[in-house]
Amino acid sequence: MGEARLRRIVILGGGTAGWIAAAGLVNRLKQKYIEVVLIESESIPTVGVGEATIPPMRTFLQSLGINERDFIRKTNASFKLGIKFSDWHTKGDAYFHAFGKTGVVFDKNEFYRSWDRARANGYQGKFTDFCPAVSMCQQNKFYREQDVPKESFVSGASYAYHFDAGLMARYLSDYAQTRGIKRIEGTVTEVTKDSHGYIRRLTLSDGTPVEGDFFIDCSGFKGILIEETLKTGYTDWRDYLPCDRAVTVQSEQIHDIPPYTHSVAKDSGWMWQIPLENRMGNGYVFSSRYCSDEKAKRTLLETLGNQTLISDIRFIPFTTGVRKKLWNKNCLALGLSSGFLEPLESTAIHLVVKSLEVFMTMLPDGNCDELLSNEFNRIMLQEYENIRDFIILHYCTTQRDDSPFWDFCRHMPIPPSLQEKIALFQSKGVIFYNPYDLFKPVNWYSVFEGMKVHPKRQDPITELTDIRSMVTILDQMRLKIDDTVRRLPSHRAFLNTYGQT
Ligand SMILES: Cc1cc2nc3c(=O)[nH]c(=O)nc-3n(C[C@H](O)[C@H](O)[C@H](O)COP(=O)(O)OP(=O)(O)OC[C@H]3O[C@@H](n4cnc5c(N)ncnc54)[C@H](O)[C@@H]3O)c2cc1C
Repeated sequence: MGEARLRRIVILGGGTAGWIAAAGLVNRLKQKYIEVVLIESESIPTVGVGEATIPPMRTFLQSLGINERDFIRKTNASFKLGIKFSDWHTKGDAYFHAFGKTGVVFDKNEFYRSWDRARANGYQGKFTDFCPAVSMCQQNKFYREQDVPKESFVSGASYAYHFDAGLMARYLSDYAQTRGIKRIEGTVTEVTKDSHGYIRRLTLSDGTPVEGDFFIDCSGFKGILIEETLKTGYTDWRDYLPCDRAVTVQSEQIHDIPPYTHSVAKDSGWMWQIPLENRMGNGYVFSSRYCSDEKAKRTLLETLGNQTLISDIRFIPFTTGVRKKLWNKNCLALGLSSGFLEPLESTAIHLVVKSLEVFMTMLPDGNCDELLSNEFNRIMLQEYENIRDFIILHYCTTQRDDSPFWDFCRHMPIPPSLQEKIALFQSKGVIFYNPYDLFKPVNWYSVFEGMKVHPKRQDPITELTDIRSMVTILDQMRLKIDDTVRRLPSHRAFLNTYGQT
């Protein structure tokens, strides 16, 4: 086993995960007591996708002291207020799952509970009519939440970014190297363990040894350290989430930039459209059991119509699931080496950041006490499962019956944790959650309502609210949000003045 002090962390891989780890560690550790080095191979490309994020990404960039304007300009970023889901419930139907506040508290009840009573009493409209971010999405407008006065009807609309994955990795690479991270170019061909099975050395193809006390595996799907070396094992979730391939292509930006990711359900999966400042990122996530590569490509290209393609068409296979341990001995897996959940709710980069943040609160010494790794694995595996359940919810509540894929989804087995969550909501309108969960009741309710899953009875606590006066407030609120959003700049106009100045 290693000496008591942790002196050197080696990151293997320079994709989004590797450079997020390097930037986060250098910012926190200042290269003072623990040295951090990163190995990346110019001959092994990064996955090159991963362009939509969620609001915690902003907090991470702020914690690094990164200037938002600079980041937006250098990564061709646009703003993201949420996701529009089209054709998921039935063809022709659409709903938003957006960031930030929805509605107001009535009688100390979260808005979704009171709203659900109003809805059940016949109030016309949608839950998201009271979400400023959704109103901005619908009107193609944007304004940063921090520039809006607290009392404004559009305050509380949180946001994230769409960015170019390659430029983002380069941005963080510059950040980390300027602050002292040593970058080693080379391909790891050999990994040496000690007699306890701990990794001690990586050897590059030219024979250069790179030694360390702790290793962060950011080598992508292969998981060179966590799997090929430590044989950690993988929990396969394809029974719950049958998609296992994606076909991707970039196209020219042809119209105003929507401030949201568009997810459109297709015959055998779903397609994303991610608007960057200068182009669109597109991809079709599909199940090879129900759709051939050729058919998937055709679906993608037909949907893009006559849009000009500006990249090669690529197929990316994946196996949905998670490593049995995310931290094993003296190795932490981050990014694609840790597992894969399809990008339906843009959670992968978030999981990298979250894992890194939790790891930094548990920094081991040279002996890598298992108490730390056990606790880390408990916290992060639960996070993976929560996100998995939330993604499955989008599929298992579909009413589509127009293809074998959707027939499967309507009847597929779902995890007991999700069965309970749905059953409880349907019986009483209540959504329980752990305060550490990424997705809160408002997020679950947005998808429940979007997929037209309604409770049989409302939460009795909401009987305290006088429905008539609540309805008057709701009517006014809806109009005020709509009117305030109308006067905001378009997303394009905002980007022009904010990002480019
Ligand atoms: C289809 C698809 C869509 C996605 N969309 C989103 C999204 O919208 N939002 C989101 O948050 N996430 C998304 N993701 C996930 C996201 O792309 C990844 O989480 C993120 O890019 C991290 O990748 P990575 O750094 O782990 O791996 P990679 O990008 O694969 O990087 C691996 C690195 O390891 C290096 N390497 C490998 N082997 C060696 C070796 N032997 N020696 C030296 N170096 C080596 C490579 O050179 C490379 O630098 C998506 C993923 C897929 C597949």
